[in-house]
Amino acid sequence: MIKIAQPIIKKEEIRAVVRVLKSGMIAQGPIVAEFEKRFTDSCGIKYAVAVNSGTAALHCALYAAGINEGDEVITTPFTFVATANVIIMQRAKPVFVDILPDTFNIDPAKIEEKITKKTKAILPVDLYGQIYDVGAINKIAKKYKLKIIEDACQAHGAEFNHKKAGTFGDVGCFSFYATKNMITGEGGMMITNNEEYAELAKRFRHHGQSEKTRYQYFDLGFNYRMTDIAAAIGLEQLKKINDYNEKRIKNTQILTEGLKNIKGLITPIIKKNYKHVFHQYTIRVTDEFKMTRDELTNYLKEKEIGSAIFYPKPLHLHPHFKKFGYKKGDFPIAEKLSEECLSLPVHPLVSEKDIRFIIKTIKEIQLCLN
Ligand SMILES: *Cc1c(COP(=O)(O)O)cnc(C)c1O
Repeated sequence: MIKIAQPIIKKEEIRAVVRVLKSGMIAQGPIVAEFEKRFTDSCGIKYAVAVNSGTAALHCALYAAGINEGDEVITTPFTFVATANVIIMQRAKPVFVDILPDTFNIDPAKIEEKITKKTKAILPVDLYGQIYDVGAINKIAKKYKLKIIEDACQAHGAEFNHKKAGTFGDVGCFSFYATKNMITGEGGMMITNNEEYAELAKRFRHHGQSEKTRYQYFDLGFNYRMTDIAAAIGLEQLKKINDYNEKRIKNTQILTEGLKNIKGLITPIIKKNYKHVFHQYTIRVTDEFKMTRDELTNYLKEKEIGSAIFYPKPLHLHPHFKKFGYKKGDFPIAEKLSEECLSLPVHPLVSEKDIRFIIKTIKEIQLCLN
C-alpha cells in the first residue's frame, strides 16, 4: 500500500530521545529551549514558544493577540477544525469567508464585506502547504487595524518572496502532529516578533504563571507545555525538513506532469513567488471525469494506492458552528470543493516508481472506460 502519510523516524531521532530519557529531565527543560532557539533561526523570527499541539499554539496566539468574548475573527470554513475551534475557545465568533477554487485558501475579495466593529483579527490558513494571499490580506488587515494570526500548521518551510511561513502576521502557528511535514508525535510552536505576545503565550502554556515567579497566577492558563522528549525529536526533524520538502516537491512535479490533460481532473497550482511545500497534493475530481471522486478513491484503494479527503465537510455545516447561524449554501465554493477534493500521496517515502504507478493507474481509467 502506498500510504497517504507516514512518519519518518530514524536512528537520530531515536538516539536523541534515549538521551533525554536517560537525562533525568523529561518534561519541559533545556531541550525545549534549544528547539525554540533553533526554530526561530530557521524562520528568521525573534521568539518561539513550544507547546504540545498545533491547536495549543493557535489558542496561545489568540490569547496573546487579545481575542476575547464578543470579538469576531475572520477565517476559512475549509480547514482543519482546530483553526476555528480556538476562536470559540476564546468565546469569540468565527466569521467564515469562502475560499478560492484554485488554491483552496481564503478569498481576499470576500473579506471586507464581513468586517464589523467587532472584528479583531483575520486567521488565514496556509492550506496544504501554500501560504495565503499575503499581499491582499495584509493590506486589508492594515487598513482596518486587524491582527493577523497565520495558521501555518501545514506549511513548515513554505515561502512567499523567500520569506518563511508563519512570519507574515502578528503571530504564526505550527503543528508537529505525526502526519505533518515535520513531526514530534504531538507538538506545536507559536512564533512572533512581538516580545509581549511571546511572554503572554509562555504564561498561557504554564497555568497563567510567569516562568520567573512560580505560584503567582496572572490569569487563566492551561498546561500546554512541550516535553523535552518531543523537542528532541523536533531538533532532529528540523535538520531534515528542507530535504523532506524538496522530495515532496519533486514528487509533485512528476505527478502534475503525468496527470495533465486528463479530462475532469484539476491538479494543484503554485502561485508565482510562492514555495508550496505540499503537505497535501490535492486534485479536484470534477463531473467531467470518468468516475466520481468516491469511485476513484475506492478504485485507488483496490490498487493499493492510499488517498484522503481533506476536507469532506466544510466547518460551517458542523453543529457547533451551525449554532452561529450558518447553513448550507453560505459558502458555495468550499461546499463544492469538499465534494471534489482528493489528496494523493507525495510524502518523502513515496518513490518515483510509486508516483509513476499512481499516474499509470489514473490514466488507465480514462482508457478502459472509453
Ligand atoms: C494539524 C492542524 C492543526 C492542529 O494541529 P494539532 O497539532 O493536531 O493540534 C491546526 N490547523 C491546521 C490547518 C492543521 O492542519
